[in-house]
Amino acid sequence: MGFKRVLIANRGEIALRILRALREMDIEVAIIHGREDRTSLPVRLSDVAVPIYRDNPLESYLDIEAVIDAAKSVSADAIHPGYGFLAENASFVSRLEEEGITFIGPSSDVITLLGDKIEARAAMEAAGLPIAAGSSEPISEAGVASELADEIGYPVIIKAAAGGGGIGMQIVNQAEEFESALNLCQSRARSAFGDERVFVEKYIEGAQHVEFQVLGDGDSAIHFGERFCSIQRRHQKLVEEGPWLDDAKRQEIGDMVCRGAEAVAYKGLATFEFLRDVQGEFYFLEVNPRVQVEHTVTEMITGHNLVQSGIRIAEGEKLSLTQDEITWNGHAIQCRINAEDPSQFIPSPGKLWECHFPSGYGIRVDTHAHVGYEMPGCFDSLLAKLLTWGPSREDAIARMRSALDETILVGVKNLIPLHRRIMDEKDFLARDVTIQYIDTHQELLG
Ligand code: ADP
Repeated sequence: MGFKRVLIANRGEIALRILRALREMDIEVAIIHGREDRTSLPVRLSDVAVPIYRDNPLESYLDIEAVIDAAKSVSADAIHPGYGFLAENASFVSRLEEEGITFIGPSSDVITLLGDKIEARAAMEAAGLPIAAGSSEPISEAGVASELADEIGYPVIIKAAAGGGGIGMQIVNQAEEFESALNLCQSRARSAFGDERVFVEKYIEGAQHVEFQVLGDGDSAIHFGERFCSIQRRHQKLVEEGPWLDDAKRQEIGDMVCRGAEAVAYKGLATFEFLRDVQGEFYFLEVNPRVQVEHTVTEMITGHNLVQSGIRIAEGEKLSLTQDEITWNGHAIQCRINAEDPSQFIPSPGKLWECHFPSGYGIRVDTHAHVGYEMPGCFDSLLAKLLTWGPSREDAIARMRSALDETILVGVKNLIPLHRRIMDEKDFLARDVTIQYIDTHQELLG
């Protein structure tokens, strides 16, 4: 069934990205919005916009019943959740299932399974993916945790079963730390996710973050290769690039993630995240059951429109590509231009008095920003995603330097100075990057 009208339940750059995909597919665009976003670009460009004004601005995008009412009021066939907000909310998806409105993403059962890191680890281990040594059940007692840590060796990391956004993780180096670390993690998990279950996993030292882009139709799955995302602050990505692996490794891990997606009858776009240790071994971290901020990197090197592919699967189409038809060309890098102070990563809301983004061959900018845009302080600080493509990594980096120098943003502090320094930094240039990169390169913070 082809969609006639789709409601975007999101804001910012991803709302605009989805709007463009829908337009190209000749699908009408409806969107919800809070008060802060009433004059935003995706709202102005939509065919129909439904205000949901709340005192707490986040609530505009999190009120399940209000979003469903909005979808009904504009007769939307489907809802695209983007990332964040309701994108991984199983209660929302099951309410849509009850209402007969299509969710552009996997089923509520699959979201429930993958949203629980303990369950997801078990499911993916059963499907043959390598997982880090750790507990297969929630742990609440320090004694049990230290027994396990003695077995698998320190350091270990305590993580929330319902975790996301890097919240509520604690590294433990010795048994005495468990009591307070467990308490802290459990209380953070309770307040952030309403679920205090935590588990313990081997802490992978010197790890790199490598993730695979997958698309499934419920029966079979294909992959679009990997992205390297180790440059992070507070476990959140700042720079993403690809490809990163050699062909043999890509094929080996790619086969695995497709089997993993097929094992849970996955429908739609997914990202399988891994840590890769210094020996080159891979450990499954989690599946993100949605479009991801950095899907753009993969679009640039494969030439496939991933957002449209996800929509087609939700329309009921089967995969129209075979694995052999997916090839990789050149190298792409993405810098997240957050409206943040580049020395401490503190959000910097405000009005953009001047706003000029680079353009030209091999450059892509995904942003909802424009001159006069008032960057709110209450949402995520992502202002723009700047991507460059080149035949080689060196070419993509050279183009990124030039693109960053060309960008003019006046009114909010932003991460351009940091990205500019990273593009000249010798370990980055030598591909010698782990998830500790920002911690061990504090001089880049200026
Ligand atoms: P979240 O869902 O909160 O984003 P993830 O499990 O995806 O949590 O982990 C996010 C980041 O936390 C990883 O990219 C990595 O930097 C760090 N991390 C998570 N688990 C481990 C581990 N076992 N060893 C080392 N670092 C880890």
